[in-house]
Formats: sequence, structure tokens, C-alpha cells
Amino acid sequence: MSDLYHKVSNSPVGRSVVSALNLPAPVVLERHNRPNAPFLEGEVLVSAAPGGKAIETICSVLGASTASLFALDQKTLVPAGEMKSKTKISPLKADAIDAKRRFKALVFDATGITTTEDLKAVYEFFHPVIRNVGKCGRVVIIGTEPSACATPAMAASQKALEGFIRSVAKETGKKGVTAQVIYATPGSENQIESPLRFFLSPRSAYVSGQAISVSKAAKPKSALDWNAPLNGKVALVTGASRGIGEAIAKTLARDGAHVVCLDVPQAKEALESVATSIGGNTLALDITEPNAPEVISSYFKEKFGGLDIVVHNAGITRDKTLGRMPDHFWDLLIDINLSSEERINDALFANEVFNKNARIVCVSSISGIAGNVGQSNYAASKSGVIGYVESLSKQLKGGITINAVAPGFIETQMTAAIPFMIREAGRRMNSLNQGGQPEDVAEAIAFFSSPASQGVNGNVLRVCGQSLIGK
Ligand code: NAD
Repeated sequence: MSDLYHKVSNSPVGRSVVSALNLPAPVVLERHNRPNAPFLEGEVLVSAAPGGKAIETICSVLGASTASLFALDQKTLVPAGEMKSKTKISPLKADAIDAKRRFKALVFDATGITTTEDLKAVYEFFHPVIRNVGKCGRVVIIGTEPSACATPAMAASQKALEGFIRSVAKETGKKGVTAQVIYATPGSENQIESPLRFFLSPRSAYVSGQAISVSKAAKPKSALDWNAPLNGKVALVTGASRGIGEAIAKTLARDGAHVVCLDVPQAKEALESVATSIGGNTLALDITEPNAPEVISSYFKEKFGGLDIVVHNAGITRDKTLGRMPDHFWDLLIDINLSSEERINDALFANEVFNKNARIVCVSSISGIAGNVGQSNYAASKSGVIGYVESLSKQLKGGITINAVAPGFIETQMTAAIPFMIREAGRRMNSLNQGGQPEDVAEAIAFFSSPASQGVNGNVLRVCGQSLIGK
């Protein structure tokens, strides 16, 4: 659905009216809409606190982009010449940076920070240059997973990065800038490539103020084609006939996957049109049918010999305040949004349908993180999804991972049904002052689905423009 205010405020006349009235003017976010576009272009400033363990990987990732790289020459930071990198990085003094200079991204390795005093390096890197980040720029810090830190002082200084990045995201969001932290458990710094590329690229346009954790994992055996990372993979997307599910199916297919689109039999026509547009297949099936898990299992086993990616996207809302909620609102919603996902996964595991290194991605919601009036059933189902992902992630073997996305306000038929005032509030109450697009959720799911995301497991990533509600 379209956001009229966004369109008007970006027109020549609308821009001056909005500015005269001092109203927030949402910027047009840069999204990934050029096939094979480099993931990062422009000038990028990179630095590390002394003792940083991720800087080598950061430099090799940045070196694979077309960006020009500079290191800030400050006394508390690692000098350009000591970054152990084959990539060309030129030193740059803070006082030589003109106010008009624009950086596409600021990337900082904070893994060397072990005391709260050391945090000063974060200030010294970002303070002189934060106002030089251009429209739709990127800020990324790499830290050490706080729960894996050896001392409380280190855990404090690493956790501090989260509050820091969330504030930077709020301060810079009106320019379409996003800011995130990637936490690596000690020894897993070589696993940051996939989240680092994602956060630096336009694919993460509507993700901001987030923390992702990576842990040790095997490196993929063959080199990855980053323009078609899902080549040769077979994926199932539930609820694929429209909205977010349709965007997920199209995005996974764009990235090379063969996609099977599932939706209820009543949506067969729309489902076939989506599947045809991407050369995929259809499964017209209600996921709450008692035999659905077995039907899905046999389908993939017989037709494809297995399954590489499952995206549990199908979901409904049945809003009513708790005292007025009929029990069938509760039962149907929990069954579709939560219980059926478990049953399908159980059958896929029991029948050994999942291939090695398979990816399970669930769709939660910020409603499941913050709660919402009239959504006790929906919020319960969506926090249930988070609990499920966090628990199952610890039990998985064979390189299989499970993660969740938690969308905020996304422009779909589901949000079009929200009353006007509540809809407008939902749309604007985030750092980017706008709703997200179904493609934004799909890009996050494609990131989790990538073979390069082997070390990304048990995460819940909000795709909400840093909505003011929730964590
Ligand atoms: P949507 O209503 O447009 O699409 C949901 C799809 O799921 C529909 O095609 C529907 O037919 C299908 N579905 C419902 N019940 C099913 C069943 N029993 N079996 C098979 N398919 C079934 O919704 P959307 O906005 O695209 O949402 C997709 C997912 O994203 C949902 O899980 C939703 O809770 C979640 N979400 C959406 C938003 C948002 O702002 N739109 C925000 C947070 C989370």
C-alpha cells in the first residue's frame, strides 16, 4: 500500500511545505534494485581499537567492494599501516576532513576493547566524523559477544556498544542512515562477512539499531557467488501468494533458489501467478490441515530429494482486546502462527528432509517483542516464535541454522486494514519516519538463508526502521 505523505514530502512543492512546518521528511531509502550492483560504493572510513581481532576480515570484506578506504589517524586507534591488510587503506587526519565531505560508511573494530576506559576509542573514531556520513550511509561496529566475555569489565564495555549504536541510529536515521553492531564470540571473527556485507549494503535499508551475533562455524567449501548465493538451493515459503511472502519468494529466486510457494487453496490463482513469475512450483495447502506436515515432507523428498530453506511466513491477525476475544480467535491464530511451524519442522526433521546446512527462518513481529493492545493472541504467537528459535538453535546439528525476523510496520494488506490514525502512528514512529516494504523483510530472510551465514544462528533481527516500541 502506498504512503501518501512520503510521496508528497519528497515532491518539490511538498518538500518546502514540510520544511516550513518543521515536519519530519522521510528520505527515499536506497534499496538493492540494480542487478549485480556492488554491495558498497563511495568513501568508507575504517578503524580499530588496539588489539582488534576482526580488522583483517573487515579489510578483506571492504576490499571486495568498489569503495575507497581510509583509516582515521588518531592516537587511540590502529594506524592504517598496521592493519595487516592487503587492501589499500589510506590514512586520514580528522582535522583534514572538510565539513562537506561525505562517507558512505563508518566501520569500527571494537573487539580489542576490554575495559570501560578503552571505550574512549569509540568516541574518538565516531565523534569527529559522524556528521560526515552521507544520505543512506552505514555505521557498523564489530564487537565481542558480551555473554562470552572473560571479565565483567569487558562484558560492560562490549554491551555498551549496543546502547551507543542504538543512539547513533536514532541521531542519524532522519538521513536514512542505519547503524548496527555485529557481535562475534571469541574465535569466530572470520564469520562476520555475511552480516557485514548485509549491513553495509542497500539490502538492509529498513534495518537499524540492531545487534547480530555470530559464532564459530565451518567455512563453506567452495567460493560463493555473492550475486547468486542460493544457486542450487530448494526453498519453501509459506504464505507466498501475496505481501511479505510474495516478496520473500521473489527475493530467494533472484538469489538463485528454486522456490516452492505455499498458500491456502483459496489463494491458488495468486499463488500460481507468483510461482510462474519466478519459475517456481506451487503447493496449495492449508498448513493447519492435520496431514500438512507429512504432505510437505513427502513432496520435497520425492520431488527434490530434500529441502535447503524453509521460511515460515504464513500468519494471520485476529485482533480483539482480551476480555472480548472469542476462543476461536485464539485457537486459529496460535495454530497458524506458531503450532503449525513446529509440526512442519518436526516432520521435516523426523523424515530427514532437511539437507546438510539447511536454513530455517521464522517470521516473528515487533508485536511479539513489545506487546500490543488487542493483540494478546498475535503477540503471544510471535514471542512464541522467538522462544522457539532461541531454543531450537541450540539443538541443531549438521550445519542447520534457525533465525527469525521481526518486522515492524510493513506496507502490506495486513497493515492496510489498520485504522488510519493507528496506521499513521505505526508508520512514523521509527528512526526512518516511514513504513518498510515487503522486500526489506525478504532481504533479511535472504541474508539468513545464505550459505555464508553459517555462523549466524539463533538471532532475532528486527526489520522495523528502529521502531520506537520494544527493545
Ligand atoms: P498477508 O495477510 O498479506 O499474507 C499472509 C499470507 O499467509 C496470506 O497469503 C495467507 O493466505 C497465508 N496464510 C494464512 N493462513 C494460512 C494457512 N493456514 N495456510 C497457508 N497459508 C496461510 O500478511 P503479510 O503482511 O504479508 O504478513 C506475512 C507475515 O509477516 C505474517 O506472519 C505476519 O504476522 C508477519 N508480519 C507482518 C507485518 C506487517 O507489517 N505486514 C509486521 C510484522 C509481522
